[in-house]
Amino acid sequence: CGIVGYIGRRDVAPLLLEGLQRLEYRGYDSAGLVITGKPAAGKPAALKMVKAKGRVRELESRVPKRFAGTTGIAHTRWATHGAPSDENAHPHIDPQNKVALVHNGIIDNATELRVKLEADGVVFLSETDTEVLTHLIARSQAETLEEKVRQSLKLVEGTYGIAVLHADFADRIVVARNGSPVVLGIGEKEMFVASDVAALVSHTRQVVTLDDGEMATIKADDFRTYTTEGSRTSATPTTVEWEA
Ligand code: GLU
Repeated sequence: CGIVGYIGRRDVAPLLLEGLQRLEYRGYDSAGLVITGKPAAGKPAALKMVKAKGRVRELESRVPKRFAGTTGIAHTRWATHGAPSDENAHPHIDPQNKVALVHNGIIDNATELRVKLEADGVVFLSETDTEVLTHLIARSQAETLEEKVRQSLKLVEGTYGIAVLHADFADRIVVARNGSPVVLGIGEKEMFVASDVAALVSHTRQVVTLDDGEMATIKADDFRTYTTEGSRTSATPTTVEWEA
């Protein structure tokens, strides 16, 4: 239902919670967020996730006091596949704790993909259609996160707005759109992503709206857009008018 993401220098959890609150008017049954924690010396970055059935307030009460990080993605869910529950709330993380994903929309061929993945030994942690994408990305042998996501999207049919974090590519968030809105918010040495400008206008008015079939990589001080086939697209930010 709603997506918010941030990469920059500020403490990310409060920003994500604020963004989710701004999307509450759209309705939802559960919420969750994942952040990239500060990597310990010599160790890769670790993903830290909190999810809750119910209100954003409930989610907020479950976020640990020490929850430092400056990159993260968050979601409010309106269940289509699988009942509202803590487990079915997004994000969905793979068992190795590498890939975290939030998704708006419906994967039409999720059952078929799930059967194949399960036959291959993959253990699912939720009943959602979304979780197939997490496993596909986690299992992709492609070298870049962009290519992992692109290859995985080729296998799914349906609608999506997605945002993806990967512990081994901690300097970026990869997003994609097909039938479910994704908007980038361009800040000063920080970037936002959301499914609805309402979640970002308190931080920036400079936005880039993705088209269907378009993807983007956002980093703290840079972004680029391209098609799901991999060719670059031009994306000049426009200024949104918004009455506070
Ligand atoms: N189909 C997904 C689910 O049921 C996403 C629903 C949504 O757009 O919130 O989890």
